Amino acid sequence: MQKIIIAIDGYSSTGKSTIAKQLAQTLEYIYVDSGAMYRAVTLYALQNGFINDDEFQIDEFVHDLHKVHLKFEFNPDLGYSEIVLNGVNVEKEIRTLEVSNFVSQVSAIPEVRYQLVKIQRKLGEDRGVVMDGRDIGTVVFPDAELKIFMNASPEIKAKRRYDELIARGDEVNFEEVLRNVRERDYIDSHRKDSPLIKAEDAIEIDNSDLTLEEQFDKIMGLVKMTLEDYE
Ligand code: C5P
Repeated sequence: MQKIIIAIDGYSSTGKSTIAKQLAQTLEYIYVDSGAMYRAVTLYALQNGFINDDEFQIDEFVHDLHKVHLKFEFNPDLGYSEIVLNGVNVEKEIRTLEVSNFVSQVSAIPEVRYQLVKIQRKLGEDRGVVMDGRDIGTVVFPDAELKIFMNASPEIKAKRRYDELIARGDEVNFEEVLRNVRERDYIDSHRKDSPLIKAEDAIEIDNSDLTLEEQFDKIMGLVKMTLEDYE
């Protein structure tokens, strides 16, 4: 059967990775979490002192970017791949609120985007990929056979992220999570390079009132229709 690329873009905490993982497992495709790559680069900037007391030394950081090596490693227990930064699995470290607070600034840097988009395109060169992010259908794979654009109300998005952080044992309050989700969506949608916008040919799904099962059925229906078109 013909393999396609499925691009899942949209706002923060709209459940992109949940649906992307489900689709990849069902179709036996590779799942790529492009946000994890931007988060890992941000973690590198924090760990190496490029971000101090809210001051970001962008030029020095860009100069150091060649030292950042990223790869994905398949975790058979989870059924999907985890991000490895310079030989260390950082899947847990990249999900903190501290990383979330700086990731949109880091991902607005063109040199960062250039490097990561190159890796993302390589991962999709044989197709059979589900990739989630902000610019997958617009910049990384404008020729993706299926493009989904996910949305949900700000409160629902913040509640989902808050529940996730609390479940991990992080001490956060709802207001700061809501502020972060709003701020990231604003910066991501207004940056010059590859802003978060819905591709013209993307199908928008607002999942504020959908159960996970309803969402899966709806999107899987779109996948089947797309696959039939490419038979
Ligand atoms: O998907 P996630 O919320 O983990 O992404 C974290 C951040 O990475 C986003 O807020 C955005 O700033 C950046 N990002 C991006 N382009 C992508 C994926 C993520 O700019 N394709």
